[in-house]
Amino acid sequence: MDRKDEILNQLKSIIDPDLNQDIVSLGFIKKLEINDEGSVAFDLELTTPACPVKEQFRADCEKVLLELPWVTRVTVALKSSRAKSALTNAGKGLADVRFIIGVASCKGGVGKSTTAVNLAFSLAEKGATVGIFDADVYGPSLPTLIDVEFNGLYQKNQLIIPVEYQGVKLMSFAYASANTGGGPAIMRGPMVTQVINQLLTGTDWGELDYLVIDMPPGTGDTQLTLSQLIPMTAAVIVTTPQQLSFVDVVKGIQMFDKLKVPTIAVIENMSYFICDECDKRHNVFGTGSMRKLVEQFGFSNAFSLPIDADISNISDAGIPYVIEKPDSPITKIYKDITDSVIREVSKIAYSEERQPEVSLASENRISYRAGDSEIAYIDSSTLRLACRCAGCINEMTGEQIVESAAIPDDIAAEQVTPMGNYAVSVSWSDGHSSIYPYDMLTELMSTV
Ligand code: ADP
Repeated sequence: MDRKDEILNQLKSIIDPDLNQDIVSLGFIKKLEINDEGSVAFDLELTTPACPVKEQFRADCEKVLLELPWVTRVTVALKSSRAKSALTNAGKGLADVRFIIGVASCKGGVGKSTTAVNLAFSLAEKGATVGIFDADVYGPSLPTLIDVEFNGLYQKNQLIIPVEYQGVKLMSFAYASANTGGGPAIMRGPMVTQVINQLLTGTDWGELDYLVIDMPPGTGDTQLTLSQLIPMTAAVIVTTPQQLSFVDVVKGIQMFDKLKVPTIAVIENMSYFICDECDKRHNVFGTGSMRKLVEQFGFSNAFSLPIDADISNISDAGIPYVIEKPDSPITKIYKDITDSVIREVSKIAYSEERQPEVSLASENRISYRAGDSEIAYIDSSTLRLACRCAGCINEMTGEQIVESAAIPDDIAAEQVTPMGNYAVSVSWSDGHSSIYPYDMLTELMSTV
């Protein structure tokens, strides 16, 4: 084995816990250089500079390579892959923005803006470049939440220069309307979306890893149109613990689902209260709704934040809570939320880059190829039997209604079309159509 292979072999023992694959197969090792004295240097190219385990990766690389007797020195440069901005066509201002995270809620006053701000500043604290766009034209709160000196907006090269606070770029309708004398916005739906879109794409965001969007509350037409206009990578939904809010969250998840924007975390804000006197946690509204959400949607990223006077006092003073109270247990929760967002977005970025190719093949089969692996085939009847549509699956029990005997002998897939970034749709010769998420196809392929 030559030295390069020896190095790669050792590095293969390091597994990315989120992508469940080794860092060599994931293509993270770039520009590997080995000199005659046994000095090894390479770039470790991660999907985000805010990767929560980047230092652990670096330490693991050094450890496993120094186990080789000839290696004298290891230099690992942490890089993040900037090669692809999914938003290159989304308008000049967004051309170098890598990921857009929409923070949404189904009602006003649940703490959506507070959460968006703390998420953004926690992302920045982890080394990412971040912006916040306040898309809530009816009640823009960014100027209240962040107390920054503001002397009016100006343009450069036809783009508006955003306001900045501690390295995070900020834009709000409130800044734009201050230029024209301020006052509340009296606008109807179509105008709202137009104004928001202009401000979003007309701002000079520059190179950003994450743009956090504080969405207007609700799941109506305005929100739907906006979500169609803004090329969101993922959504975070903020709610409160009452039973009634549960119904709203489901509506929110369904709205984003329709647009193929995955909801990556749900945050139950003002969920409990910790009493000063007894230091006990009081779940004023019970804990049932959150449990239901986790069970129904399989959310692994569900978080609860307490109701806490400091959150509102510090926010009202115009300072992000996570900056003012870096060591508090509540900041720890914001950090956990942030880590889960980073992880989920990385997974999305990775799967987009490596979407399998699925197409019709001869002999009534479908071909499937993931990354550099060999082409695999699945026959039409097996694929049809795996259909999870409402007509084929009992929604209550999750069990298959259609049995293999009920699938026509001559059933054939007639068309395979990608649907968004996560699934393919298959049209069948008997008029049926099915949707198969790539994850499910990958699993199915491993069993045939
Ligand atoms: P939204 O964006 O959903 O309208 P905001 O983020 O503006 O809500 O929050 C509404 C009010 O609630 C603000 O005064 C804010 O300081 C306060 N608030 C938000 N989260 C909490 C919390 N966990 N504990 C106490 N007050 C909170």
